[in-house]
Amino acid sequence: MTHTSPSTPPDTIRRCPLCGSSQSRHFEHLKHPVMPMEYRICSDCSYVFQAHAWEEEELQAYYSEQYRVQMEQSDRPTDRVRAIENARARLLTEKLAASGVVPNRHLDIGCSTGAFLLECSNKFGCQPTGVEPGNSYRQFAQERGLEVVPSIDAIAVDTSDRFDLVSLIHVVEHLADPVTTLVRVRETLLAQNGWLLVEVPNLYAHDSLEPAHVSAFSPHTLEQLLLKTGYRVMRTWMHGQPRSEILQLYITMLAKPGKPASTQVQAEQLVLFRRKICLFQRRVLQRLMPSRAWLPYPPLDE
Ligand SMILES: [Zn+2]
Repeated sequence: MTHTSPSTPPDTIRRCPLCGSSQSRHFEHLKHPVMPMEYRICSDCSYVFQAHAWEEEELQAYYSEQYRVQMEQSDRPTDRVRAIENARARLLTEKLAASGVVPNRHLDIGCSTGAFLLECSNKFGCQPTGVEPGNSYRQFAQERGLEVVPSIDAIAVDTSDRFDLVSLIHVVEHLADPVTTLVRVRETLLAQNGWLLVEVPNLYAHDSLEPAHVSAFSPHTLEQLLLKTGYRVMRTWMHGQPRSEILQLYITMLAKPGKPASTQVQAEQLVLFRRKICLFQRRVLQRLMPSRAWLPYPPLDE
């Protein structure tokens, strides 16, 4: 992995993954001991992305073996990861039920331990399918009886048996080319009247920047990404569950396929300034209400 400094000549810096513009400015440096990264912000549409351009194969190799070891010091799901995923799965399923979504066929891209697939299948009786590039996590989910494949290339559906729910939970920020993936989901995997459920860290409350996060989203840029790739956003939740009662760490959006509203991506103003103010606010809340700012890890209840 190379590391691009702010003074790198512009022709070696990625184009904006959202609008394709070659104009970007320095946003923040991730000071990571092994994988320091520069993040840039698009001058045209305000999308925040890593300067380093991951090759698809490089990213695939990273996720198949290294990612979990780097994040959790273990390539098998730890109790902590499983407890958080179980709690998150319950909360997401409640959001679906409260929105009147009752899926028949569920595809979870980046399904990890399979917790969300199992929770949905228990609650709605739907048929679960997962995509998980990490070898040991995929195996773990398969051992739970789930059908899980390493990439969306391995899924073949015809028009009559498309998925009526496709979820990407803490996945879009990891994609090398989120526009292409989301268009492909809509054009080849999602039923015409199906639902897309997406959750990402919120640039205005979560640290957001880490080696595996190729993009970092505000509510505005996530919505622009969904609009550009042909979805209509039906509901948005800003929340901290299951990690915080008061910090809006995550953005969850429920969307449906629709015509792209506009090919022109709308910019957002003062992104870096807002991030600084919001992270300052977070430090104040952590100081004043520490037990509500960060909840203890949930117990592993299975
Ligand atoms: Zn852009």
